[in-house]
Amino acid sequence: MNDCIFCKIVSKKIPADIVEEDVYFLVFKDIHPKAPIHLLIVPKEHMGPVNTLNEDNRDLIGDLILKAKETAEDAKISEKGYRLVFNVGKDAGMEVDHLHLHLLAGKHMPF
Ligand code: 5GP
Ligand code: ZN
Repeated sequence: MNDCIFCKIVSKKIPADIVEEDVYFLVFKDIHPKAPIHLLIVPKEHMGPVNTLNEDNRDLIGDLILKAKETAEDAKISEKGYRLVFNVGKDAGMEVDHLHLHLLAGKHMPF
């Protein structure tokens, strides 16, 4: 867990461009943005990617998605639209083993 880059960002051991923080979640800018707006929404407590989740995580996942919705409202992108992405595993190019939701916006993103 100590090697987890997002845990280090949560604990402010390494810097990040933080957009929003509450008791449960941290929202910060992706260091290599894939869109004009590219935010990462992460639970402060370390947990693995979607394929490791279980029934106990149900509430947190709901809250994570609501946090993304509120973040989009704060960023005034709700009307124009945005994309929420969970990468899971190698084929999705997942790099960081700490649950995170990508919020991408600011350009047209054909699938
Ligand atoms: P994944 O591919 O695991 O879904 O996404 C991980 C994301 O974290 C990538 O988009 C990558 O650019 C971002 N990232 C990796 N290391 C750092 C970092 O140290 N700081 C920030 N702000 N983003 C990071
Ligand atoms: Zn972590």
